[in-house]
Amino acid sequence: MKYISTRGDQTPRGFSDILLEGLAPDGGLYLPTHYPKVDETTLSRWRGLSYAGLAFEVLSLYIDDIPAADLKRLCDATYTEAVFGTPQITPLKPLREGLCLQALSNGPTLAFKDMAMQLLGNLFEYELARRGEELNILGATSGDTGSAAEYAMRGKRGVRVFMLSPHGRMSPFQQAQMFSLQDANIHNIAVEGVFDDCQDIVKAVSNDLGFKRQHRIGTVNSINWARLLAQVVYYFAGYFQATSGRFQSTKSNADKVSFAVPSGNFGNICAGHVARCMGLPIEHLVLATNENDVLDEFFRTGTYRVRATAETHETSSPSMDISKASNFERFVFDLLGRDGARTAALFGPALAKEGGFTVTHEEFARIAGFGFVSGKSTHADRLATIRGTWQDSGVMIDTHTADGLKVALAHLRPGVPMLVLETALPAKFAATIREATGLDPEPPAALRGIENLPKRFTVMPPDVAQVKRFIQQHCAA
Ligand SMILES: *Cc1c(COP(=O)(O)O)cnc(C)c1O
Repeated sequence: MKYISTRGDQTPRGFSDILLEGLAPDGGLYLPTHYPKVDETTLSRWRGLSYAGLAFEVLSLYIDDIPAADLKRLCDATYTEAVFGTPQITPLKPLREGLCLQALSNGPTLAFKDMAMQLLGNLFEYELARRGEELNILGATSGDTGSAAEYAMRGKRGVRVFMLSPHGRMSPFQQAQMFSLQDANIHNIAVEGVFDDCQDIVKAVSNDLGFKRQHRIGTVNSINWARLLAQVVYYFAGYFQATSGRFQSTKSNADKVSFAVPSGNFGNICAGHVARCMGLPIEHLVLATNENDVLDEFFRTGTYRVRATAETHETSSPSMDISKASNFERFVFDLLGRDGARTAALFGPALAKEGGFTVTHEEFARIAGFGFVSGKSTHADRLATIRGTWQDSGVMIDTHTADGLKVALAHLRPGVPMLVLETALPAKFAATIREATGLDPEPPAALRGIENLPKRFTVMPPDVAQVKRFIQQHCAA
């Protein structure tokens, strides 16, 4: 399998070439030249596999420059009960007839980003060793991504992580998760500023090409194709569980399912789009946003309008507080019949200048063929959904999952099981859960008391030169 850019660069690249890269040289995102089709025979063969076995089969279709035995070993080492809590890895939790959650957040940081990041950690360590190279991952986080990256990269040979976070602004639980890591290759830098200051520092360091090259600076952001690919696997796993005897009711003999996806940067649902393009029988991909409804607006109107920072709301589902969706370009490229020149015209410099675009009527009409529908959810909706789910089903859900469930309920179809992706555990967002139910969500046993562990982090003013010096000192070691 070869990879091309969404902005028209057709220079074919292999999987391991793009694994450690961010954007394509023309500023686009990498996609495979085509989506391999999976027929019914293959689906029935895959049905009986373990999650790790399924991951190996899906990944093998997209990776031909890592020997099969090695890839198998990496999948087996990643998707274990010890790391993800259950043998199914992403088990379904029924809410009622035809409606269930798919649990994606039982990894070490209690959010779905572990599903991909844990694999990425193992792939990075493997590829870097094979090349005899090292990588210094520099990132900024307001919570979820940073901790998922650190738990994936801790103790990995050839990789160091330098993670900037706004000093004193993460929840005590999030701080404890990151700062209690004692691994020598993990460096937490608490910046005396806000998240935007952290991100500006990362940008400034990355724009210094000399420094970047000399210190082998890389990222693990959500546009990485390997992360997206890892996420394709759980759509298959969810489908197999929902259409197996255990979840099949007598009334429905479903051969199709729908997924509802709490969305921010469009990474999670883009993996669902890839699975559907491969032939997985998905009726609808239900995209759910919070008050930051850039994507809902597009799927309702055909207009994509990037929001300014001042227009981006701080909500109680903070991991979906985005002003522009970094993975969205991948879907638009497919929607436009893979026209790289037109995708470049929409997403290139014009996007920053115009602040958005509108697709033609004819292009908009194609969206239905891709299975997408959408909706949005507000703070009041989240509270009502969390409370209602607790009262009706005795299941406590987090704020992001509540956004997904709220929108899912508007798109239920008789005979089509609806799987709502559970993207985080409620323990991560205790304040809102308390507001909705009056109860405190229990953290998993292994994390109880994590706030009391010794912390390891360095406080720094928002100063690019100091951050660079810190990286320099810790690279030499
Ligand atoms: C990152 C995140 C999302 C949004 O996922 P995207 O891939 O950015 O659309 C939703 N919920 C939680 C809990 C997250 O951490």
